[in-house]
Amino acid sequence: MIILGEDSQRTQGKDAQSMNITAGKAVAEAVRTTLGPKGMDKMLVDSSGGVVVTNDGVTILKEMDIDHPAANMIVEVSETQEDEVGDGTTSAVVVAGELLDQAEELLDSDVHATTIAQGYRQAAEKAKEVLEENAIDVSEDDRETLVKIASTAMTGKGAESAKEQLADLVVDAVLAVRDEDGIDTDNVSVEKVVGGAIDNSELVEGVIVDKERVSDGMPYAVEDADIALVDGAMEVKDTEIDAEVNVTDPDQLQQFLDQEEKQLQGMVDRLVDVGADVVFVGKGIDDMAQHYLAKEGILAVRRAKDSDLAQLARASGGRVVGSVDDITEDDLGFAGSVAQKDIGGDERIFVEDVEQAKSVTLILRGGTEHVVDEVERAVEDSLGVVRTTLQDGTVLPGGGAPETELSLALRDFADSVGGREQLAVEAFAEALDVIPRTLAENAGLDPIDSLVDLRSRHDAGDFGAGLDAYTGDIIDMEEEGVVEPLRVKTQAIESATEAAVMILRIDDVIAAGDLKGGGTDEDEGEEMPGGPGGGMGGGMGGGMGGMGGGMGGMM
Ligand code: ADP
Ligand code: MG
Repeated sequence: MIILGEDSQRTQGKDAQSMNITAGKAVAEAVRTTLGPKGMDKMLVDSSGGVVVTNDGVTILKEMDIDHPAANMIVEVSETQEDEVGDGTTSAVVVAGELLDQAEELLDSDVHATTIAQGYRQAAEKAKEVLEENAIDVSEDDRETLVKIASTAMTGKGAESAKEQLADLVVDAVLAVRDEDGIDTDNVSVEKVVGGAIDNSELVEGVIVDKERVSDGMPYAVEDADIALVDGAMEVKDTEIDAEVNVTDPDQLQQFLDQEEKQLQGMVDRLVDVGADVVFVGKGIDDMAQHYLAKEGILAVRRAKDSDLAQLARASGGRVVGSVDDITEDDLGFAGSVAQKDIGGDERIFVEDVEQAKSVTLILRGGTEHVVDEVERAVEDSLGVVRTTLQDGTVLPGGGAPETELSLALRDFADSVGGREQLAVEAFAEALDVIPRTLAENAGLDPIDSLVDLRSRHDAGDFGAGLDAYTGDIIDMEEEGVVEPLRVKTQAIESATEAAVMILRIDDVIAAGDLKGGGTDEDEGEEMPGGPGGGMGGGMGGGMGGMGGGMGGMM
């Protein structure tokens, strides 16, 4: 009996499993060469010719037009990693891919998928325990370590050449925006400027608004400024209903206009009364109001974005009011300096010298747009790890040290697990070796030698031993200053395991008819990561295109 629509495609059992595993592995393969300090970059060109050059795992995967549902589950691993910690996106995906690869071998030797899933889960739990036991505590006053963490996250990225300097700025920025509610790195704004060198980047303790003063008659700069923030207009209100005003003589018309002028004058007077020297307005400012403001020597900015107003309020200690009429002295913020300055050929308003800069701006410079963009991505990773460290207070050495330790610890643990799950735990241990192995490969070193050396050092109880990608030596990573937050590793293991398990448990893929129409096998193949990395062929029929929605109900 046929219960599926005419165009539906169904793949079952081993075929379904191997199709999904292959797709997942292909995603990992696509980012593998970018891992570590010596990883390479990728150039991604979109359909309209836009170019992104990056080393950042999650950016690569987001820019790639990935269409396969199982592949997308692996992409999500990197997105979760990005949201949770900001760094480790490549590692997470590479581990997920390797877990699938190892599982494939077990499936081939008839270990059931649910057994593998159970073993993987147990291994992941144990791995977290081992990492937590070995984590190093970092106090929030330990600036030196925070800078090392910030700098490790930028290793191998476009920001490399100035990473010491940028790491300092990043730590300053995160410490500045921290308050009793925690740390929200959204309060660190990033201004990208093309021109100058990366090491000319700087931190402005305050806010930069991408606007100019509204009229030339206003001052360029105001010192010791009391700042009004108005999320409304400085215009005469449009009547809601179309009103018709009949005037019978010119005097009446004049009266009507005078009336409007009076209202605008009143708004400006109100600002003068409360003592505002600067006003940021969310909506428009009438020409007449501009004139009065200029006459009073008030620096005014119109059409400030909501986010700018919010940042300004945070930075200056002011309060955003809905209309000028409601403003009181208490609503005003304060800044030692508000000034319009040229930055990279654009005029912006700098609000600086604030009492407690709970909102800061990093000005990132670089020779070209592509360079600055990549510097920004590196800095975002770096902000993420410093925030995470301050939140958790625990770090681990990098350079493949934790993965090597886990690999050994899990092999021991496997003996205590017994049954067929033991095989899965061993496979998990083996999968984690992919990190040191890839670090070595990408650095042009012999991966086998590196792994053997790493293991013997860890066997001897040296938890911090990792691979120096520049020399090939096995060194103490903590001493070397290569440290990462514990959560970078635990989160990666958690999401990689979950995604791998989810993919393994699928044994039936029912794809609705090709909604998009067209799409030959070849077309579909080209959209897959890894491109000619082959293997995708088989089950990846044309019907996959329209699958996105259908998968939801299958899991
Ligand atoms: P991810 O997106 O996973 O963060 P990266 O390309 O940033 O990928 O590489 C991270 C890996 O590089 C981590 O395993 C980290 O420990 C390692 N690493 C960073 N700096 C060094 C270094 N100086 N020497 C060796 N390994 C390093
Ligand atoms: Mg990184």
